[in-house]
Amino acid sequence: MKLIFLGAPGAGKGTQAEAVCAHLNIPAISTGNMIREALKSGTEMGLKAKSYMDSGALVPDEVVIGIVKDRIAQPDCANGFVLDGFPRTIPQAEALDNMGVKIDRVIALEVSDDKIVKRMSGRRVCESCGASYHLLYNPPKVEEKCDKCGGTLVQRKDDLPETVKARLKVYHEQTEPLKGYYKRQGKLYTVDGQEDVADTTKLTLQAIEA
Ligand code: AMP
Repeated sequence: MKLIFLGAPGAGKGTQAEAVCAHLNIPAISTGNMIREALKSGTEMGLKAKSYMDSGALVPDEVVIGIVKDRIAQPDCANGFVLDGFPRTIPQAEALDNMGVKIDRVIALEVSDDKIVKRMSGRRVCESCGASYHLLYNPPKVEEKCDKCGGTLVQRKDDLPETVKARLKVYHEQTEPLKGYYKRQGKLYTVDGQEDVADTTKLTLQAIEA
């Protein structure tokens, strides 16, 4: 199954993508995580992306399109994948269609802006493996440590309140129009992401299996 997760920053795309991937045994492809990895390893692409990312802007389409094209050509994607955070613009969605990738369903996670701003202040990510936690809704077993790899949990620079507001603006202007794009293709499934993680996962799995 080839799935896309759409939603505002902090809507829970990453957490839901992981749950679905474990359920279907397919890889999650997070462009945000891949860009952060590139930045950590100091590649040219990572360094180029840094200023966009830190200010809450989107990285140029051609950069992310190239990353995704290479990643989905890998053998572990043969039986499907979940795209988390891609596409984020209409040109990115068109590029995916032009690659001949047949997406089965697009899950749009709906969370109000108010709730997003509150959620983001509690979000922490593992600086080693990128796993995502929340101090209230999805806390790690040991404070400030990743359950999966024991890495240190940190707050992302782009999760600071002013940057979150800029990212929400970008989301409404550039990413939200994708709902109409995929609705016209008959692939859009909307999921209420307002409640806790377990409830949202139940609704997400229903949307995939319906
Ligand atoms: P995320 O972890 O998905 O919230 O992504 C963090 C940041 O990476 C975004 O705010 C963008 O700067 C960049 N990014 C991730 N995915 C994309 C994409 N598909 N298009 C453009 N920029 C992206």
